[in-house]
Amino acid sequence: MQINKHVHALRIPFYITIPPGIVMERFVYSYLIYGTNGICLIDTGVASSEELIFDYIRKSDRRVEDISLIIQTHTHPDHIGATRTIKGETRAPVAVHPAEKAWIENVQLQSKERPVPGFDNLVAGSVAVDRLLEDNEVFDLGCGLKLQVFHTPGHSKGSISILLLGYMALFSGDVIPVPGEMPIYEDVLALVTSIKRLKSVKGIRHLLSSWDEPRQGDDVYKRMDEGLQYIQRIHEVVLRIAGNGSAPDEMELCRRAFGELGIPQEAANPLVAKSFAAHLKVRDRKNIIQ
Ligand SMILES: [Zn+2]
Repeated sequence: MQINKHVHALRIPFYITIPPGIVMERFVYSYLIYGTNGICLIDTGVASSEELIFDYIRKSDRRVEDISLIIQTHTHPDHIGATRTIKGETRAPVAVHPAEKAWIENVQLQSKERPVPGFDNLVAGSVAVDRLLEDNEVFDLGCGLKLQVFHTPGHSKGSISILLLGYMALFSGDVIPVPGEMPIYEDVLALVTSIKRLKSVKGIRHLLSSWDEPRQGDDVYKRMDEGLQYIQRIHEVVLRIAGNGSAPDEMELCRRAFGELGIPQEAANPLVAKSFAAHLKVRDRKNIIQ
């Protein structure tokens, strides 16, 4: 799907099996920025996504070898799955925030520290990082295309959002939660600060999230507000379930919170349970988005 003169969005479907056997249908968006001299790929989807990405590039009369840079908004498995394969075929350098370097260069370490169900099927393998991206850095893709990096932690420590200057297209990775979907973050206050920072950037025309449909116009800032309100709603649900005494264990808290949020309780899993548990660390605050 073409977003503007230079930006293309690719929706990549995949499945996660949650023990004992719940199959969840998911999707992730990767984005391509077409320049005159090269193509910048933002996130690579899951293992084998290269087929879909290469197909798209060929059908739009470009060459796979034109991929000249791979930027990772972060290094969760559905964002780095095909990076090893694509780098292998194109020799494109891989860029991440320093806080994400270890998890892409050693995916076994990531799998141990953050055991996503079916991790090994989602990721093709480890890959060396060629370039580190720091907060506020602006870099030139050539032919007048400039990108600005925003360090937007909370979903993960080194999550970054990327703004295509001039065209004002914001690639926000997994930073902005989608109401009604499974919330995934490790530091809820950092996440709120990150979303507010993105909100303060004026004039964004396209919001290009990895786990939401591309948004434009008035929907851009509305989506950010809805993400913040969803976080506040989750906070209230978690505090109500936890009560004044000792909170139930993480998985029980997750199941009950899913129930209240309208998410199927069978889908409760330790990964999302960590998001709800993150709220208990700030249980003394009634409102966490103001
Ligand atoms: Zn993620």
